Amino acid sequence: MSSSPRVTSATVPVSAQLFDRASSVIPGGVNSPVRAFRSVGGTPRFIASAAGCTLVDADGNEYVDLVCSWGPMILGHAHPAVVEAVRRAASGGLSFGAPTEAEIELAEAIVRRVTPVERVRLVNSGTEATMSAVRLARGYTGRTKIIKFAGCYHGHVDALLADAGSGVATLGLPTSPGVTGAQAADTIVLPYNDLDAVAAAFAANPGEIACVITEAAAGNMGAVAPLPGFNAGLRALTTEHGALLVMDEVMTGFRVSSAGWFGREGVAGDLYTFGKVMSGGLPAAAFGGRAEIMNHLAPLGLVYQAGTLSGNPVAVAAGLATLRAADDAVYAALDRNAQRLGELFGSALSAAGVGHQVQFAGNMVSVFFAERPVTDYAAAKASETWRYPAFFHALLDGGVYAPPSAFEAWFVSAALDEDAFDRIAAALPAAAHAAAAATPEGSRA
Ligand SMILES: *Cc1c(COP(=O)(O)O)cnc(C)c1O
Repeated sequence: MSSSPRVTSATVPVSAQLFDRASSVIPGGVNSPVRAFRSVGGTPRFIASAAGCTLVDADGNEYVDLVCSWGPMILGHAHPAVVEAVRRAASGGLSFGAPTEAEIELAEAIVRRVTPVERVRLVNSGTEATMSAVRLARGYTGRTKIIKFAGCYHGHVDALLADAGSGVATLGLPTSPGVTGAQAADTIVLPYNDLDAVAAAFAANPGEIACVITEAAAGNMGAVAPLPGFNAGLRALTTEHGALLVMDEVMTGFRVSSAGWFGREGVAGDLYTFGKVMSGGLPAAAFGGRAEIMNHLAPLGLVYQAGTLSGNPVAVAAGLATLRAADDAVYAALDRNAQRLGELFGSALSAAGVGHQVQFAGNMVSVFFAERPVTDYAAAKASETWRYPAFFHALLDGGVYAPPSAFEAWFVSAALDEDAFDRIAAALPAAAHAAAAATPEGSRA
């Protein structure tokens, strides 16, 4: 058994009580599976409030937040400019089902930052964005099949759930019941970072592949950056075979630079998907790309796509305020904070003598308990993920809120301060020793 002292439900009685109550009306007690702590065990913390880099749970415990709502909160929680923008928008009406000027401003902000994107449509979640982008790619090309990569998560779109990372990986599901054979059959799943496999798939399916969809840099099997030349190779192969390249930047967009992963690497996709940061913590997302492709959407074209709450004025206000506040200093702080976190991981785990890889995809960070760098999903799954629950719980005991799954990236905010780093540095040695002492049998997976 792991030697880490577990925070038991006795020490978070209010969260435990809320979880019981939630479980009697919400499946598993949560509205998104990873929140249930199933792969790390223990009681999910119910959050009462948050400010800056600090979460406060329902029992009054404070945690340094290294999840940031799975990415969106680059400025930290309850940033005054964002809260004020939301307040102002809300007092002017919550939804009209008619266009507003602020939607243009948000679309312009996206187009200005990500140069391959000439037209944008707003939707309500990253899932909707990827679903719509794939439909558009099929409608535009007149082709049926799509290529995705194992360990890349593109939301819970039926056709994209095959070998998805993130929560699907956490729960050990190969895909999901309820996805039909036909939906899965049109999805070709290949190993990430393997261009030869992509070339072979194009050769085996001539004229049939509508698009390749990829996370611009993978963050849903942990942080796994594309190897040098991988995205450029996808660009070349898709162009050669008349397929579209869909860059999923729902996680990386406006986080890893003001122009997302595109801003770091410069490889242009045909279509892009965005979410998370671009709506500042409210539910909004987007997909976009070249005008010539996007103009196939209704009402200009035949590919149907719509949304009652799309372009919601409150969500748009939060997104605009976030993008406006995210200046060069914010991106420099995100990069600096990620590096600093990575260094702290490295020194604590080395001191504890546990084999590990600290990996970055821009300013997203991951710890893999592995001897070699992880470049694909097979390697991520082969790592010693059974060490993670002990590591996670020791951090939680030390007041640090880490992702409750070994297959997730860690997200920093620009709001992390010296005090937060002191707390992280203080909690890490015990966590590293707990990870070192863990055994495969001791995990609660
Ligand atoms: C989070 C995520 C999605 C899904 O977004 P939701 O808003 O959760 O539907 C899609 N793609 C990537 C890369 C993501 O990280």
